[in-house]
Amino acid sequence: MTRIAFLGLGHMGLPMAVNLVKAGHDVIGYDPVPAAVDAASAAGVPIASFGIDAVAGAEVVITMFPAGKHVIAAYEDGLLAAADPGTLFIESSTIAVDEARTAHALAIEAGHRNIDAPVSGGVVGAENGTLAFMVGGSDDDFAAALPLLEVMGKRIVHCGGPGLGQAAKVCNNMILAVSQIAVAEAFVLGERLGLEHQALFDVVSQASGQCWSITTNCPVPGPVPTSPANRDYQPGFAGALMAKDLGLALQAIEQTTTDAQMGRLAQRIYAEFAAGEGGHRDFSGIITDIRDAS
Ligand code: NAD
Repeated sequence: MTRIAFLGLGHMGLPMAVNLVKAGHDVIGYDPVPAAVDAASAAGVPIASFGIDAVAGAEVVITMFPAGKHVIAAYEDGLLAAADPGTLFIESSTIAVDEARTAHALAIEAGHRNIDAPVSGGVVGAENGTLAFMVGGSDDDFAAALPLLEVMGKRIVHCGGPGLGQAAKVCNNMILAVSQIAVAEAFVLGERLGLEHQALFDVVSQASGQCWSITTNCPVPGPVPTSPANRDYQPGFAGALMAKDLGLALQAIEQTTTDAQMGRLAQRIYAEFAAGEGGHRDFSGIITDIRDAS
């Protein structure tokens, strides 16, 4: 049994914390939002009144916040100071690579251990304990975190040193965005050429264009009954989250002067999508914009 402080009990953090409680760990949670606190209490997660109270005496601190600025602020504003020396900080929010490295440096300077461990798999993966974790940090810290990550996730990959978990996440989501746009464009082009959705699906899902964006997240209703297109694009993975992740990708592209033209274009397309109704819809709903503009 490990004493764990779990900070950030939102859509992802709460089900992750619940799985740690169910696995028999001594979890104490914290979130500043009263509704999140009520939901956590109802779900059986004990709650502290302040983040620093949750952290005091914990062996492991997991953070699951909206963005990097919240992580750095929380680390600097008392979390690191309140923790016992040598505490393992597992930072699971999706944040920029350089923010992850800053958080790592702050934790090390304060005498602690830190890994970045962003996730994919969404709320369903968090609830079912089937998240994928992409981890950046030392071998020892990865090994120490692994038994806890295995409670919350199914696929756990050690990607390298500090920040490289976030690097893997940003690269994966850039591929995902580009492929979802390409699949949507292909369906709209097919429609205009007189091709039935099912016929295009039957070909592409077994051919060289095959990818998750068609076999799981098919952007037209019918061929994959569980895809968000069958429920008017209820997420799934909301456009706002994809736009956020592509903002981090663009930041990394610019910092590294990578000639990622498709990544840049995908960022612009999803920023526009998320500025309207698309922010709350599954990101495969981009097909509606493409159809409307065609
Ligand atoms: P969310 O907004 O539902 O939850 C974040 C929670 O953090 C909120 O309840 C907020 O009050 C809390 N918080 C903020 N500052 C805090 C602090 N100092 N101390 C304690 N709690 C604090 O967001 P989410 O959907 O749960 O996503 C969390 C992270 O996971 C994000 O970085 C997101 O990009 C990433 N992510 C989300 C999904 C998804 O499908 N929702 C999938 C993969 C990754």
